[in-house]
Amino acid sequence: MKDIILTGDRPTGHLHLGHYVGSLKNRVRLQNEGNYDKMYVFIADSQALTDNYDNPDKIRENLREIVLDYLAVGIDPKKVTIFVQSMIPELTEYTFYFMNLVTVNRLMRNPTVKNEVIQKKMGESIPSGFLNYPVSQAADITLFNTTIIPAGADQEPMIEQTNEIVRKFNSLYGKTLNECRILLPDNKICHRLPGLDGNEKMSKSLGNCIYLSDSEEELHRKIMSMYTDPNHIKVDDPGKIEGNIVFTYLDVFAKDEDFSKYLNEYKNLDDLKDKYRHGGVGDVKIKNFLFNILNDELTPIREKRIELSKDMAYIDQVLKEGTAKARIVAKENMKKFKKALRINYFDE
Ligand code: ATP
Ligand code: MG
Repeated sequence: MKDIILTGDRPTGHLHLGHYVGSLKNRVRLQNEGNYDKMYVFIADSQALTDNYDNPDKIRENLREIVLDYLAVGIDPKKVTIFVQSMIPELTEYTFYFMNLVTVNRLMRNPTVKNEVIQKKMGESIPSGFLNYPVSQAADITLFNTTIIPAGADQEPMIEQTNEIVRKFNSLYGKTLNECRILLPDNKICHRLPGLDGNEKMSKSLGNCIYLSDSEEELHRKIMSMYTDPNHIKVDDPGKIEGNIVFTYLDVFAKDEDFSKYLNEYKNLDDLKDKYRHGGVGDVKIKNFLFNILNDELTPIREKRIELSKDMAYIDQVLKEGTAKARIVAKENMKKFKKALRINYFDE
């Protein structure tokens, strides 16, 4: 059986470099390799409402922006079904029945949820919908019989949780659902790309992002504001590489040919790191180098995005057609699900 690939993004803001290296690049690669049965990408608006229920306009405003980001990085709606989560009611039904198979304690132990509860300062006031979002992710995954999820490391606990639900469902009601696996990027740093502040993962909700849609000026401004090594004050001071976020990004994005193009006094990244450690390399120099590299990578995406944004009717059409296609599959699979649960009362 060929794979069924699925991933989603929350419309809480535009997509950023973390999405790009953590998931989008793998999605585009898988799409172009074409070695799959079906591939879905969806906008997780219902999930985004679990912690943004007081700001529905934010979710609404970002829905189409995410589609612009998708198409700008090369996701092709002819090959990939792009759909809106809230427009597939079967997802809510799956979630409801899955909730019986998970304890509140188990949800409280989910490391990603725990982390987000702290970041979002929820304290003791965790909305039950938010606590339950890993269960709704199990619905997203299983409704479409997903086998592979190209995502970042924050999704590992969700996939583990999903597979637990799948095993419990199958053992109680008969083999109905598939187990799935995560596809992480090859480069370990990209599993959880840190934000501009260097501390947390780059995340829309934390405001520490370089967005794919940032202008050249914005990109430059953000890179220039990045922390390096606080003890590297004068050019000649020895510098630290570990924890220096500019080098973390260079580790992800710098290629040998970038040195001949922009920084030919150094052979490669190892050489630059070595000289930086010994002293004699200024922070502005490494920041400008990073800017040039990222700007080369992001300029075509930015330009394509601007072009696409001139025809928002097309974006709507992509979403409507993708959602209609996904709905057909959802309805079909829902029948098997209800049969397994013995609630298909009036089927033949
Ligand atoms: P929010 O702050 O609203 O949760 P987010 O920035 O975390 O937004 P999501 O929409 O939650 O983005 O994540 C979508 C996908 O992108 C997931 O597969 C996730 O693993 C991946 N992803 C998000 N941030 C990063 C990151 N910094 N590094 C690697 N992958 C990431
Ligand atoms: Mg997130």
